[in-house]
Amino acid sequence: MTVRIGWLYPDLMNIYGDRGNIMTLVQRCKWRGIPVQVDELALGARLPEGLIDIFFMGGGQDREQKIVCRDLLEVKGPALKREIDRGAAALVVCGGYQLFGKYYRPFEGEELTGIEVFDAYTVAGNKRCIGNVVATSALGGPSGTIVGFENHSGKTYLGDGCTPLAMVSVGFGNNSEDGTEGAIYRGAIGTYLHGSLLPKNPGVADFLIEKALARREEGVRLDPLDDALELKAHDSAVVRARKTH
Ligand code: GLN
Repeated sequence: MTVRIGWLYPDLMNIYGDRGNIMTLVQRCKWRGIPVQVDELALGARLPEGLIDIFFMGGGQDREQKIVCRDLLEVKGPALKREIDRGAAALVVCGGYQLFGKYYRPFEGEELTGIEVFDAYTVAGNKRCIGNVVATSALGGPSGTIVGFENHSGKTYLGDGCTPLAMVSVGFGNNSEDGTEGAIYRGAIGTYLHGSLLPKNPGVADFLIEKALARREEGVRLDPLDDALELKAHDSAVVRARKTH
């Protein structure tokens, strides 16, 4: 079977190297001999139901979020929610993450209604949270941590309907208050971690690919890859992050 990746708004929601996540998912499938295809889902494009296995949406400034918000809510959102409830995987980063919650209230202008994949809401804070992040996560692989870079003013608060992706040990995370970073609901992951996230956190990449395969074939397990280089990059980023705090 071919793993199909749906890339939401690639021309608008793609900052701080977020396209590296797509490259990692593609490469980690190819290294395993799994056929993989990337479908760009731009503004106005209808979402083909039942065909996409992993959705990806990168981050964006308030301006780009305002541009995509209505399309996400009215054109793609209902089908996206159904797909995730049917077992599709998703990785949504920062501005994309915020629009997968109930709403994002920017510092200026109207509140942006989200598609409610995550039981969460976001309000703009009065300072930007910028810097390296180290957080403890069940998806952190051998080290138990995930590492990345954050740059957001939004503060996200989780409800009972989703769980944190990780607990922060370095950096701000969701809201600088409760120690959480990101969110997980079924196969969907929201995160503030740019960098991009997946190259240095192969456990998260394989979680998404395994979810995608499991949607079509019960109990499938991924063959492990030699992640020595990825984990070396991960550990080096963790050491650097810990020095900055
Ligand atoms: N505009 C949002 C914020 O500032 C998201 C930014 C981003 O995607 N890096 O919180």
